[in-house]
Amino acid sequence: MLGLMMDTPLLISSLIQHADDYHGDTEITTRTVEGPLHRYTYREAHQRARQLANALDSIGIQRGDRCATLAWNTYRHFEIYFAVSGVGAICHTVNPRLFAPQIAYIINHAEDACLFVDLSFMSLVEELAEQLATVKSIVILTDHANMPPTPLANVICYEDLVHSHSDVLDWPQFDEHTGSSLCYTSGTTGNPKGVLYSHRSTLLHTYAASLPDNFGLAARDTVMPVVPMYHANAWGIPYAAPMVGCKLVLPGPVTDGAGLHHLIESEQVTFSAAVPTVWLGLLQYFDACGQTSSSLERVVIGGAAPPRSMIEAFAERFGIQVLHAWGMTETSPIGTINRPRHGMSEETPAQRYQREAKQGRPLFGVRMRIIDDQNQPLPHDGESFGNLTVQGPWVCRGYFNEPHSDAHSEAGWFSTGDVATIDPQGYAQITDRSKDVIKSGGEWISSIALENIAIGHPEVVEAAAIGVTHPKWAERPLLIVVRRDQSTLTRDEMLHYFEGQVVKWWIPDDVVFVDQLPHTATGKLFKLKLRETYRNHLLTIGVAP
Ligand code: ADP
Repeated sequence: MLGLMMDTPLLISSLIQHADDYHGDTEITTRTVEGPLHRYTYREAHQRARQLANALDSIGIQRGDRCATLAWNTYRHFEIYFAVSGVGAICHTVNPRLFAPQIAYIINHAEDACLFVDLSFMSLVEELAEQLATVKSIVILTDHANMPPTPLANVICYEDLVHSHSDVLDWPQFDEHTGSSLCYTSGTTGNPKGVLYSHRSTLLHTYAASLPDNFGLAARDTVMPVVPMYHANAWGIPYAAPMVGCKLVLPGPVTDGAGLHHLIESEQVTFSAAVPTVWLGLLQYFDACGQTSSSLERVVIGGAAPPRSMIEAFAERFGIQVLHAWGMTETSPIGTINRPRHGMSEETPAQRYQREAKQGRPLFGVRMRIIDDQNQPLPHDGESFGNLTVQGPWVCRGYFNEPHSDAHSEAGWFSTGDVATIDPQGYAQITDRSKDVIKSGGEWISSIALENIAIGHPEVVEAAAIGVTHPKWAERPLLIVVRRDQSTLTRDEMLHYFEGQVVKWWIPDDVVFVDQLPHTATGKLFKLKLRETYRNHLLTIGVAP
């Protein structure tokens, strides 16, 4: 027997409609690419999203067409999110920090029909335009007065496009399983792969992410996503904000400590989200200028593990709570978040920071397990570490326009490529990417654990641990270190520092000092490149078998 409840589809347009209906005068503030602050309300955002939706028809965008963006976090990007998905087309956010050939690959692979581009990325688009076979129109995200001279054909001014269309529109209703937005993984491990979110997956993720023990968002909050809108939909915040009706602050191209601090104070931001590098910049700014924040209550840190010292600094020195989250483009992205369980109120600060350095527990909706190389589940004892696999309604079940995916099992699990432990309380801790784990004589060594220890040395700025070829053990750890200026730290002193912190056989076989380490477009250590460079290091220095 079926239930007798309405079959209202979960559509992204309902979010902006709701914000207009019940939070219509709540503000969205943007640091624009042109410079000044821009302020308007959800009501105006909704009106312009409807105008843009009508305009899309005029440039030939049909349901299912992909519309690419190369854009910062701004109100115009926000309008595109809702207009494009709202009419049943796909909002394809492209990461402008990728290497240019990868951007061309992604746009061609997605067969994008149009491209919305911020002024900052004009020269990039001019360089790539000839290779973009499917892009019929290029919409420049500015007004008439700021339109740049360009040799590009088919260029349209965004403000002219919006203003020349009516705002009369009832959002179309369609199947909630329809694709809504597309985001490619940054390709740290091979060619970029497209994750195609649906309206349903987006709304379920938005509900879940907003819950009190997750982001805990409320209408009284002022929320500033620093995480880019081209990185897994800014972790869902552009959808969660209109759902809860909070004030939204979009920092545009500004992500440095001073610029963020200025916006946080002027807008009285209470909640923000970014990767550890951004927060390091803010903390350094606080230190250098003797500043703090009068409003910031919670910050989400994800994308990479924050060091415990960062969690402690936020809490102890500035009274700001860190919400440590883990996720991937493939998981919409929030998979786990670190919040205390019932009965944990007696934790000492030290116990709390130790717990918060872990990636956390799954949100309701996400199931997770760890398995060994034979697909056998491993115990959740906080010790055993294995391949982390997940499933749930906002986890992707395949990649866009790829007939096959090694990461998806027939039993319905997605293999994250991360290696983790899960403790008896359900807190997962990422110990490595599966490609980065060092397999020494069949035993696994966590490269992240070695890096964390190395970074704990006062003379080390950054460190990477990688597995390199060894004649006897197949692989052994090599540590690559960037020292502080003027440091005289030696190889032996560095290795000695590991003693007592890990079992003996985890201690790296050698140390290489370098001026800088390579990073990917998303700011992660580019270990693939390091492995290529140093693969034969131990063989060339002549290790004893
Ligand atoms: P990729 O880097 O593979 O292109 P994403 O940008 O989606 O993909 O990043 C996802 C990866 O980032 C995760 O698989 C994990 O390795 C890493 N990651 C995300 N959050 C955390 C975290 N809190 N701690 C450690 N690693 C994290």
